[in-house]
Amino acid sequence: MVAKNSGSKAKDPFDRVRRSVKKAEIEGLVKSLVKIPSHSQVPTREKEVAQFLKEYLEDEGIEVKLRQVEKDRPNVIAVVKGSGNGKSLMLNGHTDTVPPYEMDIPPFVPKVDGGKLYGRGSLDMKGGLGAMAMTLIALDRAKVALKGDLYLAAVVGEEERSEGTEDIVLKGPKADMAIVGEPTDLEIQPSHRGLEWFDIHFYGKAAHGGQADRGVNAISMASRFVNLLETGLLPKLRAKGSSVMLPPTLNVGVIRGGQQPSSVADHCVVKIDRRWTPEEDLQTVFQEIYDIFDTLKKADPRFKAELKRDNTNMKTMTHVPNYVPEDHRLVKSLKGSVASVTGEQPKVTSFWGWTDAALMTHFGKTPTVVFGPGGKGAHSRTEYVLTNDLQTCMLVYAKTAMDLCG
Ligand SMILES: [Zn+2]
Repeated sequence: MVAKNSGSKAKDPFDRVRRSVKKAEIEGLVKSLVKIPSHSQVPTREKEVAQFLKEYLEDEGIEVKLRQVEKDRPNVIAVVKGSGNGKSLMLNGHTDTVPPYEMDIPPFVPKVDGGKLYGRGSLDMKGGLGAMAMTLIALDRAKVALKGDLYLAAVVGEEERSEGTEDIVLKGPKADMAIVGEPTDLEIQPSHRGLEWFDIHFYGKAAHGGQADRGVNAISMASRFVNLLETGLLPKLRAKGSSVMLPPTLNVGVIRGGQQPSSVADHCVVKIDRRWTPEEDLQTVFQEIYDIFDTLKKADPRFKAELKRDNTNMKTMTHVPNYVPEDHRLVKSLKGSVASVTGEQPKVTSFWGWTDAALMTHFGKTPTVVFGPGGKGAHSRTEYVLTNDLQTCMLVYAKTAMDLCG
């Protein structure tokens, strides 16, 4: 819903915000961001896109700086300063994307067709990031007087180890509340599960395949384990459920073992993705695995396995669940903003993936909710973001900032 442009000196501050940025301008910024590759196979990683965003905001007169997280990998931190004595809000979006892999569309030649903006990262999440940057610009142009500060943190590395948001949590700026602009189809998502990766190593004894009974087959041990995981533990997790988010779950993502067909494998490793809820803790998560070890050892004393955490997807902070209660001021404010901007009652749901919001809420003590545009194909062959949603998001972010920052 966009107000007709019927004059430039609207008295209502939100009307001024609506008129200060046109939809085409947000699309233009998102296209520029998509044009600059910033995935893990680019030697300069997020550097160019961060530099571009900094200059874009600078040209608008927004206070902005780059802060290096690792060598040549800067976060972009911008602020529209409030007059004081108000709550502060941070808009957080990541500048990195996954690599193009084998996309069916040109990944870095963004194209708008039928209300969809195509390209790698358009949805995850240069769309949300562009809408967030435009929010600061719109409020500044409309000369909206906020009491609290409104920050933009455009962070590196979310697709890998979340080093960018870790840096924000450790060094600030510290905001009272935050929104992460990952794609949610305009649903408000105050919760999601934690994410733990671990490896299970199975140890056997090598022997010739012609005398296999002289050895102990690590692959057989792994297959017994996977069988119990899927027939025993997984149904229990589904039944356990959660009162505040999607039920806990697990996935066997990788299995690797053995040398060649005529050798008994003495080693096999299974890699597991485990999504856990605030009603669980990591100790329970690991204990469930040790219980399966015990069962298998009782059935066969030769069974030998070891659990090791796989920390390659994190820097120092455990990927805990994110949970902000539905009656929190931030959630209420977002609900009001969505209703006012779209004319429809928003859905409050739980995000299926893991996001940086969890680090902000848990380690940064900044309650953080995920809200972003709709589209399709994050991490896949055809990725697009809905252009109408870009403008809707910008207006929702702006209205929420005006409400919370005062
Ligand atoms: Zn993302």
